[in-house]
Amino acid sequence: MSESSKLTSEHIVNHPQSVTREQRSAANGHNPVVLWYTGLSGAGKSTIANAVDARLFEQGCHTYLLDGDNVRHGLNGDLTFSDKDRVENIRRIGEVSKLFVDAGLIVSTAFISPFMSDRLMVRNQLEVGQFIEIFVDTSLDVCEKRDPKGLYKKARSGSIKNFTGIDSPYDIPVSPEIHLNTAGQSVEQCVDLIIEQLKIRNVFV
Ligand code: ADP
Repeated sequence: MSESSKLTSEHIVNHPQSVTREQRSAANGHNPVVLWYTGLSGAGKSTIANAVDARLFEQGCHTYLLDGDNVRHGLNGDLTFSDKDRVENIRRIGEVSKLFVDAGLIVSTAFISPFMSDRLMVRNQLEVGQFIEIFVDTSLDVCEKRDPKGLYKKARSGSIKNFTGIDSPYDIPVSPEIHLNTAGQSVEQCVDLIIEQLKIRNVFV
């Protein structure tokens, strides 16, 4: 956050809202949460997040999907892949996710989000149980073989710098709520596992 925006926010007082989050949840028929997918590029975050989102939508849940690529082109179009900008990228996504939770939605986010401290920052902005970290655990080797967007090839040749797993670090989640192993589980199996976990966690019945 810049010095000038810090100064501005000091003088801002929140206005109470007439419709509460609880009322929105009750009207929607489910609890709002953030499904925070994290993992290397090509791990399967977008594929699984999309499939889960579609399944939840079919069941009448109010959902929204924030995806790395669509956010990078819009809201965060001014940010690079430097460590500093990666932190700001996740901070903004965390703030947007929080607004969606306030709106009563099940919001899915599919971002590499390589730094543990950033994921913790978002978790700490939400109430206990509202942040569901989903580790899409796929080895670098498998991701690089899949290379769905040809990005590993470019990173290896040096035309992309600061690529997670190659010349930028990825902090492995220590105790994610859900841990997927996509080399051993199909997309369908991963989706079933997540839906089952959401039911266990009372997100919806
Ligand atoms: P990310 O969003 O993590 O960068 P993508 O979802 O864009 O990854 O790409 C993952 C690729 O891996 C897709 O081409 C997908 O079809 C493939 N894939 C193969 N097996 C799986 C699996 N079990 N789960 C998710 N994706 C898988």
